[in-house]
Amino acid sequence: MIYSDFHGMKISRLGFGCMRFATDPETGAIDQEKVNAMFKTAIAGGVNYFDTAYPYLGGNSEIAMAEALKDYPRESYFLADKFPGHSLVSPVDNIQLFHRSLEKCGTDYFDFYLLHNISEYSIKTYEDPDYHIIPDIVKMKEEGKIRHLGFSFHGGIGLLKEVLSRYQGVFEFVQIQCNYLDWTLQKAKEAYEIITDAGLGVWVMESVRGGKLANLPEKASSMLKAFDPDASDASYGFRFLQDLPNVVVMLSGMNEVSQVEDNLKTFETHKPLSEAERKTLFEIAELLKQGVPCTACRYCCDGCPMELDIPFLLDCYNSCKTGSGLIPIMRLEGLPEEKRPAACIQCGQCAHACPQHIDVPATLNELAEIFASGAKWSQTAQARDDEMRKDLGTNA
Ligand code: SF4
Ligand code: SF4
Repeated sequence: MIYSDFHGMKISRLGFGCMRFATDPETGAIDQEKVNAMFKTAIAGGVNYFDTAYPYLGGNSEIAMAEALKDYPRESYFLADKFPGHSLVSPVDNIQLFHRSLEKCGTDYFDFYLLHNISEYSIKTYEDPDYHIIPDIVKMKEEGKIRHLGFSFHGGIGLLKEVLSRYQGVFEFVQIQCNYLDWTLQKAKEAYEIITDAGLGVWVMESVRGGKLANLPEKASSMLKAFDPDASDASYGFRFLQDLPNVVVMLSGMNEVSQVEDNLKTFETHKPLSEAERKTLFEIAELLKQGVPCTACRYCCDGCPMELDIPFLLDCYNSCKTGSGLIPIMRLEGLPEEKRPAACIQCGQCAHACPQHIDVPATLNELAEIFASGAKWSQTAQARDDEMRKDLGTNA
């Protein structure tokens, strides 16, 4: 395992993100046995940083994480949690909410604590005197219940500069979305440099963009396989970040033991990218810059009056845009009619909630048109079935 030195602490550069644990598709229950197995493998491989947040997985991520860590000495790992100011619509008892997180995590302090998802949308809440969030959280730090304070950020560069300048000495690190696709697409390069120049540590979320860079389209993947047929797509995403010296932690939302094992291999040593590899990653980024940059964070889903699976629909949209033939149409056909893109009533709630600033209603409108006007998988399937039966000489 490669480690970062942050204020004298030895932190594994691979951090375990706890927002994507495997769940039962019907009940939504977290597969605790799988979480335990993943943590066991990760810890044996040197991972000592675990990141959760109050709302992850319907509020159950904190509990599942605590359960998986309960047999390990508290001082043997670093725990990070987040305050959900971005989800508040009226003031709450911040101290009580904070203590609830401590309780669910089975601890009496957090090594790292973040204000969750600061953006142009949430900054008003975070700074509203009636909400009293920042003073309360700073108080928790003064009382020793938080060792290091930071924030996760989904806003624009202008806001990032303002926040860093307004709160000098308050925050020690910033968690940003950074990967070789967002390096230019979402100005991650600028954000990295601004945070570094401010003397703060950079934490990275969406290292492989919700799995997108771990499962590249075939053309892109084969470009990487030309360098090393055994290296995973994900390994290049992490190696790109490892080359950035001020990236202290790279989070990966692992949900399979095989992913943990693959990531551990990538973090055994720091193997800098060659110039050719780096150039190829940026070429791939250009290939991927079609469609919309949905990370499947699901922040938009809770408030959708039609209860649409928005990230799923956007994934279909992106597949349509990247030339995946009838596959995305087939996936849409698998949905009941009331869950398809045409069911969107264009209320706009999702667009406000989206940290990627995606115009979801317009995109779903376009997807509904694509779906309505294009060929259907069911027709193709019927035609193929007919062909097959003809070939077999049977009508059975
Ligand atoms: S605009 Fe459509 S997808 Fe978005 S919240 Fe409203 S109904 Fe749901
Ligand atoms: S549309 Fe935006 S908020 Fe919704 S899942 Fe995608 S990135 Fe997240």
